Amino acid sequence: MTISTNSQPKDIVLTGDRTTGKLHLGHYVGSLKNRVQLQQQYETYIMLADVQALTTHFHTPETLAGSVRQVALDYLSVGIDPDQATLFVQSMIPEIAELTVFYSMFVSVSSLRHNPTIKSEAAERGYEDLYYGFLGYPVSQAADITFCKATLVPAGDDQIPHIEQARKIVRRFNELYAPVLVEPQIIVGERLDGLDGSSKMSKSLGNAISLDSTTDEVRSRIRKAPTDPARVHKTDPGHPEVCTIYGYHRIFRPEDSGNIHDMCTRGTLGCAACKAKITGAIEEVLEPIRERRARYEQRPGDIDDILMAGTTKARETARQTMGEVREAMGINYF
Ligand code: ATP
Ligand code: MG
Repeated sequence: MTISTNSQPKDIVLTGDRTTGKLHLGHYVGSLKNRVQLQQQYETYIMLADVQALTTHFHTPETLAGSVRQVALDYLSVGIDPDQATLFVQSMIPEIAELTVFYSMFVSVSSLRHNPTIKSEAAERGYEDLYYGFLGYPVSQAADITFCKATLVPAGDDQIPHIEQARKIVRRFNELYAPVLVEPQIIVGERLDGLDGSSKMSKSLGNAISLDSTTDEVRSRIRKAPTDPARVHKTDPGHPEVCTIYGYHRIFRPEDSGNIHDMCTRGTLGCAACKAKITGAIEEVLEPIRERRARYEQRPGDIDDILMAGTTKARETARQTMGEVREAMGINYF
């Protein structure tokens, strides 16, 4: 665990995921693992980002309804504790939409167009003429973070430009009106490549191992993953730095990865045996997750109760901040 921050006791954590499908191992190493640790120390809000999901899935809003409960179950399965963390649904907090509108008045379109994550996601999805909501989602994300005055955001490295944007919004708001908002800082997790080896593991790219995978699914997905293309026979010297599976060794079993590197480059460990080892390491991560999932699956009503209670609490916080924001801007007329 590599969290080192100069946290004050008052730190507040906010993070979340788009409800576009099941969570996967990339989410686990990039963010979920850190959240499980942070929830023990800090007030934690975890958001099911259904509005942000609409920025790319507005044609199929039915995806969101199924996904909300699926993602909530993923959270509980990895060890997010509803007694410690507040789980809530983004679209049920209208103050987030309201804040987004106010912030959008002083965010320039060119700063959004130059955001490197927006650029690469737009290219990945083949977007040319960008939708207003998609281009502006970093502004909405600033509203997500600031409604609860979050100071820490555990997320993957693709989120760095968005957190920078949120910090700018906070500074600008505080300087324009009154110092009511708080600047967040990111806690960057590790980045996991997709099984295809060509980009990060992602729900939408079909290159993921989802957290609810069975042992057979893990084994078969790993078996099919490409490795070093220059390695034809198992005794050929390999090039671990170009191999996705070696990248997984570094993340899931770092203590053994030096060894794997040596054996691969000397041609004494074949790809099949190397894949069997990483499958074992991933199984160790997934097994406790499966056990917790099985327990929650027997009580499906609990998920709705947890989301309703968390959303009610988050809404209270949002109302409070919204009151301060209106007062700072002098738009509380009556
Ligand atoms: P989508 O394809 O719908 O955008 P996604 O798989 O990219 O889904 P998000 O919901 O956009 O997932 O990301 C949620 C969080 O998980 C973010 O903090 C992001 O940085 C992190 N994350 C997602 N994929 C990875 C990955 N492969 N490695 C590390 N972190 C990741
Ligand atoms: Mg994404």
